[in-house]
Amino acid sequence: MTGLRDHLARRIALEGPLTIAQYMGDCLGHPKFGYYVTRDPLGAAGDFTTAPEISQMFGELLGLWAADRWQAMGAPDPVHLVELGPGRGTLMADALRAGKGVPGFRKAARVHLVETSPVLRDSQRRALAGVNAAWHGDLSTLPPGPMILIANEFFDALPIRQFVRDAKGWRERLVGLGNGGGLAFVLSPAQAVNPLIPAALAAAPEGAVAEVCPAGLSVAQAIGRRLADTPGAALVVDYGPARSAPGDSLQAVAGHTFADPLADPGGADLTAHVDFQQLAQAALAAGAMPFGLVEQGVFLKALGIGHRAETLKAQADARQRADVDAAFARLTGTGDKQMGALFKVLALQSPVLPPPPGFE
Ligand code: SAH
Repeated sequence: MTGLRDHLARRIALEGPLTIAQYMGDCLGHPKFGYYVTRDPLGAAGDFTTAPEISQMFGELLGLWAADRWQAMGAPDPVHLVELGPGRGTLMADALRAGKGVPGFRKAARVHLVETSPVLRDSQRRALAGVNAAWHGDLSTLPPGPMILIANEFFDALPIRQFVRDAKGWRERLVGLGNGGGLAFVLSPAQAVNPLIPAALAAAPEGAVAEVCPAGLSVAQAIGRRLADTPGAALVVDYGPARSAPGDSLQAVAGHTFADPLADPGGADLTAHVDFQQLAQAALAAGAMPFGLVEQGVFLKALGIGHRAETLKAQADARQRADVDAAFARLTGTGDKQMGALFKVLALQSPVLPPPPGFE
């Protein structure tokens, strides 16, 4: 038994079955046993890898996107450059380096990192040595003022709740204790009407699973509110459907392979697909203007990844050229092992700003 499994079993015995959000929250963020609290999960030696870890081109192009939005905002100084869930700090380091090419941007940018993991905060500090950055536990402590925000693979890590449709209504899927005392999925009593079910899924057939990410929606709403009254732009890159669709997308990954989400609490990454329709609606309702979705491959090509790859290859040896080609294919390709179509990009902006690059 792991320490976290004992803790969860005690918690369930005391409080009853947990929502999947409570379970995910403990698995990922428990102060002693949480997955993100105890390790750096990224990269080839970790459990999964992400676009900025695959190639510097990703962070560079997002940095240029940010600099372009800064110019569109009238080049405010200061501008808050915010990243949610910055991982190892690689994306931000690449973005700042590329942003130096746009006169005045680097000097105006104040870097803010929203990160809960102490281990990853250390990695970010190393990657951003020499950068005057501020760390935050959530968005509530960000200073007011013009803002450009980036979130790559952040929303998929936020806890979701799941509901299953039966003849009588919606039942919540919960984590309880099975006959042998191990963790097991159980269902709550049915509820005819459930205010958490997204409108698009309200009429789903019996057996359908609806997912909601209350934490993600509240972040989208906070971003939307801020963009409604202060100039700014946000870019969200993640995997998930463009339109709300029923389905169980809770997944565990350890050592680059899928695992049972209940098998090793705190030892595997837990994620769920991002429901971009719900996110965009939450931000729109709060006063921001959404753009997209576009596929990551289409977006990166529109920003000039092809040209950037050629420039890098012109200065490289044969092995490095092959690496650049492989990274280009992985980031933009549409195969199911590639990220180009699997990952989508959503932009949110203050309504006064012209459409962002990559979304025309
Ligand atoms: N953006 C990075 C890392 C993605 S992994 C990359 O692309 O490589 C998810 C990141 O979100 C990690 O940095 C993790 O510690 C952070 N995270 C997860 N839940 C969080 C929360 N509730 N608040 C802030 N950061 C969180």
